[in-house]
Amino acid sequence: MSDRKFSTSEVKKINKQREDYNSLYYMRRLIKSIEGLNLLLRKRREFWENYHVMHDEFVLWGRYLLTFRGTIQEIDQHYLCGNPVEITTLPDFMKIISSLRTKEVTNLPTRSCVCSKCHKLIKIEDIAKGNFEPCGTQFVHKIC
Ligand SMILES: [Zn+2]
Repeated sequence: MSDRKFSTSEVKKINKQREDYNSLYYMRRLIKSIEGLNLLLRKRREFWENYHVMHDEFVLWGRYLLTFRGTIQEIDQHYLCGNPVEITTLPDFMKIISSLRTKEVTNLPTRSCVCSKCHKLIKIEDIAKGNFEPCGTQFVHKIC
């Protein structure tokens, strides 16, 4: 925890929030939709900004790292993990690969985000497969 002093009730609240935002059950529910994924990321980020208490780190779809400070990074070696599980802890993921190189993902599509080339929705499945990229202020499918 940071140098800030927290009251007992604050500490209780912080611990409860941290438990929620680091629970596989809670996260599995949220990552089923783009809206949920963005909400999860926002909650984890705000929690870090407010309290500077580190999160556990997780890997989504064998492709993205959820960092201790609430950001999301793409894992360079994601192609090595074969048939990826939805979500796993970082220590479990590290049993598959020996080193981790990542780059920050600064911008994810939001709900109802439409590909500016094919005009179809960008879905959570596209994000899971990494099939999107920024194009100006919008997004396109990588394969479009
Ligand atoms: Zn498209």
